Amino acid sequence: METINEFSIDEIEITKNVEKLFKELFPICRSITGNGVRKSLKILNHVTEFTVKEIPSKTQCYDWIIPDEWNITDAYIEDEEGKRIIDFQKNNLHVMNYSIPIDKWMSYEELKKHLHTLQNLPDAIPYRTTYYKRDWGFCLAFNDFCKLDKQKKYHAVINSSLELGSLTYGEYNIMGNSGKEFIFSSYCCHPSLANDNMSGMILWIILLKILKSLKLKHSYRFALVPETIGAIAYLAKNEEMMSKVDGGFVLTCVGGPSKFSYKETFLENCFIDKIVDESFKESNVDYIRYPFDINGSDESHFSAPYFRIPIGTICKDKYYEFDYYHTSLDNLNFIKSKSIVDTLKIYLKIISKLEKIEIIKNKDNFKIKKAKNKTLTSLNPFCEPMLSKRNLYPSTGGQIAQKAVNFSKNHHSREYEVDENNRHSGLMIDALSWLMFYADGINTIEDISKRSGLKKELLYKATKILVDHKLVLINE
Ligand code: ZN
Repeated sequence: METINEFSIDEIEITKNVEKLFKELFPICRSITGNGVRKSLKILNHVTEFTVKEIPSKTQCYDWIIPDEWNITDAYIEDEEGKRIIDFQKNNLHVMNYSIPIDKWMSYEELKKHLHTLQNLPDAIPYRTTYYKRDWGFCLAFNDFCKLDKQKKYHAVINSSLELGSLTYGEYNIMGNSGKEFIFSSYCCHPSLANDNMSGMILWIILLKILKSLKLKHSYRFALVPETIGAIAYLAKNEEMMSKVDGGFVLTCVGGPSKFSYKETFLENCFIDKIVDESFKESNVDYIRYPFDINGSDESHFSAPYFRIPIGTICKDKYYEFDYYHTSLDNLNFIKSKSIVDTLKIYLKIISKLEKIEIIKNKDNFKIKKAKNKTLTSLNPFCEPMLSKRNLYPSTGGQIAQKAVNFSKNHHSREYEVDENNRHSGLMIDALSWLMFYADGINTIEDISKRSGLKKELLYKATKILVDHKLVLINE
């Protein structure tokens, strides 16, 4: 077996594999549970073997519960002439993910309440979800929405099921003997969306295949989970082992055409951040550096107060930042196999540097200790608490920080959503999330204000909400 320093990749062969996976994986309607995920993991299992696990519906995982399993066979809207004007078979984004079954004729006005469009990207179908609220909906291009005849009646049909089943995820542990361990995770819950996150799933399996063939000192834990609920379930199942993990990466959005970028770990300048920077520099690759942000992927769970694993994310066209994010224009025309191979090369460089690490300093500095005054202590330190069951989070997913909802603002300034009496406003959700993340007995409200860029007044209001919901304690 070779070590990673002697190792070189066959780019032509890998590119061929990536492109084959594009064709196989892209059309599948995935979700946080169901046969789409199983089918996708089966395809990936042909590249290299890993373990597929199932967690039954209704299993409690910290503050969350595994939902009923969702499956769908068909969905459409037809007009009075029997013409299908929206067809799930043409694009699975047309159905709001997790929609309940429906078979009903209705007026334009009634139908309209269940339609989702993006006026700013009028040819794109938006991606929307309703995981935790029983609802149904269709998503369509704004231009097609404008063509609907307001006088007509429409037949909405969704052949879906929501039943007791399970949540499916994949994992593989490469065991080294140094006592150090790193995690590489990605998510497998998005339907036909190419960059976010079919690209991440493909990089995950190719990286796993390569690492399995090498002689490595450290241990590497690979997890391919449905985003949020799957990561939280994974932490709950592997709590003891995960509390010892030294660092890691979330593989997401690695196929876009633009410049490389890197989202820092919550520690901002730890060994992971430094190794990433060195790897880019030595590869002569220029990149955009994004500060840690509470909004993102599963790093907020892996880095939650109890675990505090520093997690970095390298992207080519990061979620939130590209115009086509969470729309049908994030398709096979948007991504490139070369981008995935180029990201793979950066990750291999990073892993070769990780392999040289002997000691990781100040490892436990950021874990909860004896609480300081004027800090908060989380009563749910294992992951982000479930805000939607407390009516603190919008029930329709997919639109948070989506650029195409409002091109004139970036997600770092979501003031357009602000109504501080309305707890569903973007800024209040941000405040709740930042506070929960830093409710570690170490950071004061002042510190959290600096880290998040949010005003102290807003953070005090949000603290009151968290105290009322018994999510934090104030240390005075
Ligand atoms: Zn996404």
